[in-house]
Amino acid sequence: MIGNSGSKPGGSVDVSIVVPVYNEEENVQAFHKELSGVLDGLDCACEIVFVDDGSTDRSPELLRAIAASDRRARVVFFTRNFGQTAAISAAMDNAAGDIIIPMDADLQNDPHDIPKFLEKIREGYDVVSGWRRSRKDPFLTKTLPSRMANWLISAVGGVRLHDYGCSLKAYRRSVIRHVRLYGEMHRFIPLFAHQVGARTTEIEVNHRPRAAGKSKYGLSRIYKVVLDLFVVKFLSAYFTKPIYFFGSLGGLLSAAGVLSGIWTLYDRHLGVFVHKNPKILLAIFLFILGFQFIMMGLIAELLMRTYYESQEKPTYFIREKMNFDA
Ligand code: UDP
Ligand code: MG
Repeated sequence: MIGNSGSKPGGSVDVSIVVPVYNEEENVQAFHKELSGVLDGLDCACEIVFVDDGSTDRSPELLRAIAASDRRARVVFFTRNFGQTAAISAAMDNAAGDIIIPMDADLQNDPHDIPKFLEKIREGYDVVSGWRRSRKDPFLTKTLPSRMANWLISAVGGVRLHDYGCSLKAYRRSVIRHVRLYGEMHRFIPLFAHQVGARTTEIEVNHRPRAAGKSKYGLSRIYKVVLDLFVVKFLSAYFTKPIYFFGSLGGLLSAAGVLSGIWTLYDRHLGVFVHKNPKILLAIFLFILGFQFIMMGLIAELLMRTYYESQEKPTYFIREKMNFDA
């Protein structure tokens, strides 16, 4: 529970700050100093989990020094660069806190916002999303594409947030326990949390220009966001019932094929021979396509069962149980 004074017996942790680090030698020390100052003022047990994402500069050395000087700081070193999403996943997997707060190591997020996040969690929210209302990034390459992406993700995903891309967020561990992140999916965590019934809110956060070092991203992430969103949407809508998706599509296509066949026969009635009527090709083509889609749906149903049953994953999530102990 948050609110207990000081660190807890048994070394348990309330809040884990998780930080991916890739070539941030100019920032990581200042970041740690500023963050420590904020954590010192909190009345809960905190840890910082850094993941060095295969940095090729002095970041690993600096992280070692930080870990040596601060018992609250833990560091995971990757063998090579696996990307921000993998780094965040690893940090979350290795974090012990009940509340997980990811943030960037480049000082663009402000650690002084952390108490506001904890306040919202205390109010009972499971996900608190940061919103960089006055964002300090280049307009054309960052702010504008991000506005469009946020609109699209909100519309398709069904959770209205202004700033999916903001790293600084807070999650109750229970709602992200089952989340596995692939590709560059970390910005969709609020959607995954929504799927398990998380209560989500948003707060404005401070944002600062990158003081030192370079941004690791360019415009190429736009098309990745669109493709990732497609996957997320498919998974959330049809993961436990793929036949509904493939079956409906297959059914429609087959029906169109049958209609096209009937039309061909009707044309024959009007005097156009079937072998001279291209509509017969359309009929065959659509029917086979539709049939294939239905078969694909059946295979997807098999895969889905293997996925859930081999790992004994539940297809539902429970918030609370009463009178079950003993
Ligand atoms: N980062 C990482 N691995 C990567 C790229 C970035 O761990 O392959 C980290 C980086 O060190 C920073 C955070 O992810 O702490 C956000 O990166 P960046 O500041 O480049 O993104 P931007 O703010 O430009 O969106
Ligand atoms: Mg940044």
